[in-house]
Amino acid sequence: MILAIAPAAQSAPPANPGRPAYCDDASIIPAEALANGHLDQRCDITGRTVLGRNLTVVVPPAGETAWGENMAESGGVADELTLTHRGGRVTATGAFNSTDDRGTPDFDGGYSAAADQSCSQLDYVHLDRKERDTFHWRINIGTTPSYISQANADFAIASGANWLVSGTNDCGLQSGIINASHAHDSATTLMPNMTTSGCGSRDSNNVVAFADRTGNTLATACGWTFPVFGYTNELQEADIVFDNTSRNWFTNVPAGCSNQYDLASVSVHEFGHVFGLGHVSESTTPWLTMSPNLAPCNTSARTLGRGDYKGMYDRYNV
Ligand SMILES: [Zn+2]
Repeated sequence: MILAIAPAAQSAPPANPGRPAYCDDASIIPAEALANGHLDQRCDITGRTVLGRNLTVVVPPAGETAWGENMAESGGVADELTLTHRGGRVTATGAFNSTDDRGTPDFDGGYSAAADQSCSQLDYVHLDRKERDTFHWRINIGTTPSYISQANADFAIASGANWLVSGTNDCGLQSGIINASHAHDSATTLMPNMTTSGCGSRDSNNVVAFADRTGNTLATACGWTFPVFGYTNELQEADIVFDNTSRNWFTNVPAGCSNQYDLASVSVHEFGHVFGLGHVSESTTPWLTMSPNLAPCNTSARTLGRGDYKGMYDRYNV
């Protein structure tokens, strides 16, 4: 009797080693998969949706960068995700693979001016973007929730932009000397280039509006930049959305305020992203405007903390 010994099964080598599975479907790509860069040679993922913690960003055309930032209500998870498409590679950076506490807040205090420590908190984060000219933006005022007057919403949001670029603060630092500027142009009926989960593709209009945000997100800023060789990226476009479905906004702190959020505070924070500031730690620097969470009825983010001010000053004056 002869026993035939079968050779060990061998699978054929893959036709295109290194080609990621997401090249061959239309799935949402997890940001982690792009942490070390995706090579355009494997497949073109321009236009594909990438998911960070809870925020999606669409891969921009080669040469551009797309970014999104979520600000969350107290206890909610914030997010930040940047997709850089340059040099034949798409690379994701952000909070998705971070062990720091950006986006995992522990601060849930109500606001009291006496407790405000923003003038002793020095942190800031610079993101790779800068508005070298004037940031012109429009508001889709028709999206304002009916419980706020359109005039009040417009004023609160514009005040946020004004306070950010003027460096308004409670720390005795000189305001009006930061070389950043914005212009609040006439209203529009355009919507920001966003979905309920994040950022879409740009349309060359800077639009602010109210719209549905998923989960615990108070507001989202999305933007797109072009590289400036050897220098900080140039901002090309940015949009901001304030959630209109899961929370109530106020423009002046209402008597008996409860579970309502300050529109002007969130506006300062979102324009901070537009002008190149990133999130700082919620647990160690909760009083700074650029910490990623805001408690109900808290108006502390209307004025810049020392770190917020330094971040703007160093980006635009140094
Ligand atoms: Zn933010």
